[in-house]
Amino acid sequence: MTPLTATETLPTADFFDYESQLSAAEQRKLRELREFLAAEIAPYAGEWWNKAEFPAHILPKLAALELSTPAQRGYSHLFAGLVIAEMTRVDTSIATFFLVHHDLFVEALYEFGSQDQRDRLLDDASSLRTTGAFALTEPDHGSDVAGGMETAARLVPGGADDGGDCWVLNGAKRWIGNGTFCDYMLVWARDEADGAIRGFIVDARLPGVSRTRIENKIALRTVQNADIRFDNVRIPEADRLAGINGFEDTNALLRGSRIMVAWQAVGQQLAAFDVARQYAVERSQFGRPLAKFQLIQQQLVSMLGNAVASAGMMVRIAQLQDQGAADMARVALAKSYTSARMRETVAMGRSILGGNGIVTDYRMAKIFADAEAIYTYEGSYEINTLIVGRAVTGVSAIV
Ligand SMILES: Cc1cc2nc3c(=O)[nH]c(=O)nc-3n(C[C@H](O)[C@H](O)[C@H](O)COP(=O)(O)OP(=O)(O)OC[C@H]3O[C@@H](n4cnc5c(N)ncnc54)[C@H](O)[C@@H]3O)c2cc1C
Repeated sequence: MTPLTATETLPTADFFDYESQLSAAEQRKLRELREFLAAEIAPYAGEWWNKAEFPAHILPKLAALELSTPAQRGYSHLFAGLVIAEMTRVDTSIATFFLVHHDLFVEALYEFGSQDQRDRLLDDASSLRTTGAFALTEPDHGSDVAGGMETAARLVPGGADDGGDCWVLNGAKRWIGNGTFCDYMLVWARDEADGAIRGFIVDARLPGVSRTRIENKIALRTVQNADIRFDNVRIPEADRLAGINGFEDTNALLRGSRIMVAWQAVGQQLAAFDVARQYAVERSQFGRPLAKFQLIQQQLVSMLGNAVASAGMMVRIAQLQDQGAADMARVALAKSYTSARMRETVAMGRSILGGNGIVTDYRMAKIFADAEAIYTYEGSYEINTLIVGRAVTGVSAIV
């Protein structure tokens, strides 16, 4: 049967036109990104995901878009968020690679690196000639990693080959995105002398670093996550992240990346709506398109409402960022709320596709599965909820 309507002529999932809040130059750049994603990512993303392969060959083209560290390039926070949402809308894995590398590794160098570290590393990292990872989570410490971190660093005065000071790093990290292939990783460790959390820029080729790919994932299969061990890894003092003096500084970085993950929850919902609506319009049962059934329309409208409400919250977060007022409790509410709505939205989307919603050929199964990673990383739904709970009651239910 002929589809009821051509979806190109229908309103987009950006139903309240948040994109119009961008400058004309930012809107142009977003269109450029969309063209790149449509040509270079969308046709292949399903196959990369099925094969659990990371497409390293796209990095030069991705870098050529010049979207890294948007604030340094004069772009707004809203633009930075919409870039991540748009990437996620096409492929959650590529968006995750991008935000781990840029919003955690590169931003950390900008914010907390010494001039020497920036001079040595930033040019290559910003243009993706080198790649970075962010190694915080441990096998036995996820949500409680701030207090429970076991990876340890010991200062050895005069211990470096050139006679300078060095640190000896021991421990293990788990789930580290880009961890199998990255050139550098930011590793968080407890200083054996005073218990403070310190950050180290670790060259992944150093003796004593071993990395094992995490296999058999059901989400973000294109992203390469690693278990990483550090056995007496010697790191020059020059590679200690100069501006980090405790977990509070780490938290400042996580606040920024948590915002980006909440934008991913928006992108995931836009994707689910796009796919479900197209399917509902094209697929017929009982001699008419699914879109003509009231229960299907009700689900599509709920999905759209969730997506638009989540995006609206994030537009306000971007304004708060502009004012320096996006504190951790507000950011935690954004991540907790958008990821909860996302889970509802992708479940409705999966249901609209019926059986075809559980095979990746129709995109929705991948969207549904990838949502689970967003729900858990950058502070799980529960932990972010409890951060807000603490802020609004004055008492912590986390511990
Ligand atoms: C795909 C993926 C990519 C990742 N990438 C990275 C990365 O690049 N770098 C990195 O450092 N980490 C990364 N992580 C790790 C991620 O941040 C952790 O998975 C997350 O912090 C949760 O930790 P956990 O998995 O150990 O779960 P746990 O902390 O063991 O939690 C298990 C469950 O218990 C709940 N829970 C825990 N404590 C409480 C409490 N006090 N009250 C109520 N409920 C609680 C949690 O919400 C969760 O539902 C990644 C994870 C995934 C899945």
